[in-house]
Amino acid sequence: MPIFEYKCSKCDEQFDVMTSIAERDEQQACPSCEKGVGKRILSLFASPAGRTSGGLPGGGCSSGGGFT
Ligand SMILES: [Zn+2]
Repeated sequence: MPIFEYKCSKCDEQFDVMTSIAERDEQQACPSCEKGVGKRILSLFASPAGRTSGGLPGGGCSSGGGFT
């Protein structure tokens, strides 16, 4: 099941809920204050532009090796 992110309308707590896609738009009870309800927000890793930092880890100045 996918995990969706919610944000509480009362305490602004953000939390993840694993639920089915069919129920992703349901309001989820806040686990923090237990009074507010969380409304779904877009998770970062779901945005297409959020993971463009991929590449070579530290592949900048790796030539030579003459570090003192
Ligand atoms: Zn809350």
